[in-house]
Amino acid sequence: MPQFDFHMHTDSSPDGTDSALTMCEAAIQKGIEHIAITDHLDFPDYETDRYADRVERAWEEMNLAKKETEGQLTVALGIEIGSPLLMPTLTKQILGIHSYDFVLASLHQLGREPDFYFVDFNKVDILKTIDDYFDGILDIVEWGQFSSLAHLTYPFRYIPQALAPADYSRWMDKIDAIMKGLIQKNLSLEINTSGLRKKIGVTSPDLPLIKHYKELGGEMITIGSDAHRATDVGAGIEETIQLAKDVGFKYAAIYKKQKPTMLTL
Ligand SMILES: [Zn+2]
Ligand SMILES: [Zn+2]
Repeated sequence: MPQFDFHMHTDSSPDGTDSALTMCEAAIQKGIEHIAITDHLDFPDYETDRYADRVERAWEEMNLAKKETEGQLTVALGIEIGSPLLMPTLTKQILGIHSYDFVLASLHQLGREPDFYFVDFNKVDILKTIDDYFDGILDIVEWGQFSSLAHLTYPFRYIPQALAPADYSRWMDKIDAIMKGLIQKNLSLEINTSGLRKKIGVTSPDLPLIKHYKELGGEMITIGSDAHRATDVGAGIEETIQLAKDVGFKYAAIYKKQKPTMLTL
């Protein structure tokens, strides 16, 4: 089984705790061969979280850690861009400054509303919120300037179980369009393992949607822990590789200069 983890955050992200080097050392210690460091660049908080500085710091720290661990680990220099279409000119500009190996695209909130993490789902129209979320994801896929689509079912992580929709049937047309868009553009769908460490207890997307992607002809996946601290590096990856294999996936993608290499699972 190949050893990789293609989604993690360092202390260059507002919510990360450990340095890039500490994350790399944790990966080496766990026998992981390939990682991507993917610190946040969330456009709705561009000013308040001082992302102009963070992006530069993240780039320097990643490069130092990569150099320091050369020969022991391959480090893809990545970024997780949240809401890339909120300020498209700035997105384009920032993605042009450094030559990233791997770009994750995500949507953590609607417009400038709070991250779904902070939403009180007792007080919002959940169905409408999820309608808008998947519409936003579809726009991102149509834009297409990324390597892999992060945690497709992100809002579901935070909806209390008692309020959670029973299934995805209301959104299957949108999900189909999203997945077909990824396939057409040769982009990856991420299987994010962080839910395995949370109350929801499943990957994002979870098994029914991973199967659906496969049935539509999806082949390109990336797998990442979304670790925000060194102890979580590699968490849930082996279990998720097994799940992907059970569904019929033969490969997972890792990236260099935004070009995929397929690792046999
Ligand atoms: Zn994310
Ligand atoms: Zn993340």
